[in-house]
Amino acid sequence: MISAILPTYNPADLAFERGEGAYLFTADGRRFLDFTSGIGVTSLGHAHPHIVAALKDQAGKLWHCSNLYTIPGQQRLAERLVANSFADTVFFCNSGAEAVEAGIKMARRYHHGAGHPERFRIICAENAFHGRTLADISAGGQEKHTQGFGPLVEGFDHVPFGNMNELRSAIGAETAAILVEPVQGEGGIRPASEDYLRGLRAAADEFGLLLFFDEVQSGMGRTGRFFAHEWAGVKPDIVAVAKGIGGGFPLGACLASEKAAASMDGGSHGSTYGGNPLAMAAGNAVLDILLGDGFLDHVVAMAALLRARLDDLTTRHQKIFTGVRGLGLMLGLECAVANRDLMVKLRENGLLTLTAGDDVLRLLPPLVIEESHVDEAMEILETTCREWE
Ligand SMILES: *Cc1c(COP(=O)(O)O)cnc(C)c1O
Repeated sequence: MISAILPTYNPADLAFERGEGAYLFTADGRRFLDFTSGIGVTSLGHAHPHIVAALKDQAGKLWHCSNLYTIPGQQRLAERLVANSFADTVFFCNSGAEAVEAGIKMARRYHHGAGHPERFRIICAENAFHGRTLADISAGGQEKHTQGFGPLVEGFDHVPFGNMNELRSAIGAETAAILVEPVQGEGGIRPASEDYLRGLRAAADEFGLLLFFDEVQSGMGRTGRFFAHEWAGVKPDIVAVAKGIGGGFPLGACLASEKAAASMDGGSHGSTYGGNPLAMAAGNAVLDILLGDGFLDHVVAMAALLRARLDDLTTRHQKIFTGVRGLGLMLGLECAVANRDLMVKLRENGLLTLTAGDDVLRLLPPLVIEESHVDEAMEILETTCREWE
């Protein structure tokens, strides 16, 4: 008999009752160090007092009123995102999938408005992940996500991630945009080189394409910059954001330049929940912290510390690990053993991690970790490696 929950997930037999900072607790008092952040979502840790207070305050006033009315919190969050990024304008939604979907629609609409409706194709990377709507799985293009869901949405071309020649040869008269993750997340924690990101900008300019980055996982401070693409000094036209932006409250956003958004006029897109007062209270509270003095410097410092310790670990346990890759606090340990089994062993020892791709153990610790959390994670990794060997 089918389970009451549609069986699309395969959850561990482990339930948490509460969280505090970098830790999760079960009802019977077991404590876990959370280096998953709910897949890059609870970037400021669990139950952050400032976000809790903001949500409690808003919850007693107004949850939802629809976009038929002015939402002051939305105005404030949009202005702050614009002031701190390449963007001129923001569309709010509720998830990463919707943020990418909005960007895809915007890219098509831009060329339609510019008198080129034939330009609708988007060049994407192999091993990409862009969410689970029909257009998003078509953009991701991975067989394991598309199988049985056809016909797919037309107009997505796939080229190897990081290869500029292949990307350039895929550009045709119908190409509208380039869509990539600056750091591939689900696909295996693969950072694009700065050269590649700059090459994408140059190709987009040369052929009149929009450059669209999916920063749902890599954005909102995860790599030590507000957005990962900033490391390359590149200005995109569209960026999809979600995960970390709400600190655990469902919130997504599609950021765009004035030019890219030129044809998104009244009624062309929308969302009932998108940007509601409760979500905006969460998003603004997250930004209060993320934009605070020295916060991103802290992320960079913790990332350097963790990276160095992981490099050391992997050189001492070469039967288990073959290397480390990633950017900021978006890190992957390349595994010589089954990544899933390792993840389970680490969990049994009190450290929560993720997998990515076929052979990577993924770490997405909360951005607020301190040196003591790095020490603790390294002790559990070390113990688990010794037990494994
Ligand atoms: C998680 C993710 C998505 C999808 O986000 P949802 O909130 O699950 O819809 C899209 N793109 C990237 C890069 C992601 O990591």
